[in-house]
Amino acid sequence: MGGQQVTHGQEWRGEDLRGKNVTVAGLGVSGVPAAKVLVGLGAHVTVVNDGDDERARAQAAELAELGVTVRLGDGTASDSGSAADLPDGTELIVTAPGWRPDKPLFAAADQAGVPVWGDVELAWRLRDLDGRTPAPWLCVTGTNGKTTTTRMLASILEAAGLRTAAVGNIGVSLLDAVLGDTEYDVLAVELSSYQLHWAPSLRAHSATVLNLAPDHLDWHGSMAAYAADKGRIYEGNQVACVYNKADKATEDLVREADVEEGCRAIGFTLGTPGPSEVGVVDGILVDRAFVENRQKNAQELAEVTDVQPSVPHNIANALAAAALARAFGVPATAVRDGLRAFRPDAHRIAHVADVDGVAYVDDSKATNTHAAEASLVSYESVVWIAGGLAKGATFDELVTRAAKRLRAVVLIGADRALIREALERHAPEVPVVELDRTDDGAMAAAVAEARALARQGDTVLLAPACASMDMFANYNARGEAFETAVRELG
Ligand code: ADP
Repeated sequence: MGGQQVTHGQEWRGEDLRGKNVTVAGLGVSGVPAAKVLVGLGAHVTVVNDGDDERARAQAAELAELGVTVRLGDGTASDSGSAADLPDGTELIVTAPGWRPDKPLFAAADQAGVPVWGDVELAWRLRDLDGRTPAPWLCVTGTNGKTTTTRMLASILEAAGLRTAAVGNIGVSLLDAVLGDTEYDVLAVELSSYQLHWAPSLRAHSATVLNLAPDHLDWHGSMAAYAADKGRIYEGNQVACVYNKADKATEDLVREADVEEGCRAIGFTLGTPGPSEVGVVDGILVDRAFVENRQKNAQELAEVTDVQPSVPHNIANALAAAALARAFGVPATAVRDGLRAFRPDAHRIAHVADVDGVAYVDDSKATNTHAAEASLVSYESVVWIAGGLAKGATFDELVTRAAKRLRAVVLIGADRALIREALERHAPEVPVVELDRTDDGAMAAAVAEARALARQGDTVLLAPACASMDMFANYNARGEAFETAVRELG
């Protein structure tokens, strides 16, 4: 451990990194580009990485060419009791967002007064490098709906003729967006709770927390810590903090945030909006926040049917995106045009086919109970395909809320018994078929079971409420397997 006290780095900008000893924690998608950028800025860079596999060695060799010191299999893992020393003389750590805050490396940094930045913090600090005019950031986080909302927002901003991109946790990385040759007027930024944890000085133009439900609690340590990290997105907002009226926790986070003078709290609701809110009246998305005389006036933005897919939680996503865009001064017509032009990413409530009067919907991306619940309550009568890796979740609440919509359930995956038990407790009359197989044909078998259980007008919905890795490479592969099986039915 270095031991000596160094500046906390709060005031450092890109130019100040020249000659600094910077430790990059973690190779991989964010570590390698971060190391390269830091070298380019004249920093002395050491990379520490837990793993020592072939890929890591190839990356290490590439970085070594640039003069980076790389320590592979370094013993900085949270479960290793070994050294975990800060490389000598470290003045700053730039960490991969996924590194848990309880790693010994960070405790050592804390003791030595060494600041820790994530990739987002680094990008934020570099945004005005070399005299660039930085684009304002409109930021989106939440347990579910981040990608969809960020993409909707980018689509609306584009429709307004602005130079923009969806960046951050999706698409283009923030470092590329900030340092690349493309000039932007504004960025639509998706941020995970991990990224927010490591981005202490980020100050958005406007931001939203879409919703808050327990997720990643092993990483954050508690629900309170998870919420606090999500809440950082509101810190220092300049124009608007957009919250979900149906989720009080998000409003509480706004109240606790320290924002710029004049920054407003704007609620979104599926009901009729009050002043300083956006909401829905008679199938129309309306703005009572960014209009003259909001006590009396409202501005029509779009129709509910302009939102694809037009299900409640997705209309909420559209309202949040619209509120952020309106906070940036985008006209109402661009909200409508942007929403109409938006197409959801694959495996997010994707309507695959109708077969014998039954709709088949792929929401493989519903990897937690909060997301699956939003899907299930979007349909009247559902044959639900669920199961996989539960990640410590419980299913009682989900099953209780969805029970009356369930025609039947087909369970797959490692933790399916947890869902079956919840069904026995809260929906004992609902027929359940369990599939005890994990081979390539398992999803087709699940679809065949679902078909046999469905009646005309029903929806067969893949919304697993679980991660996929027990049976599939990822949620994409799971969704593909479902879609292929459905097409073969036709
Ligand atoms: P994220 O980027 O936060 O994972 P996505 O936009 O990719 O979010 O959506 C993931 C899944 O979450 C969707 O497939 C859907 O099941 C669910 N979902 C989307 N928006 C919401 C919302 N506002 N509330 C609850 N669940 C949602």
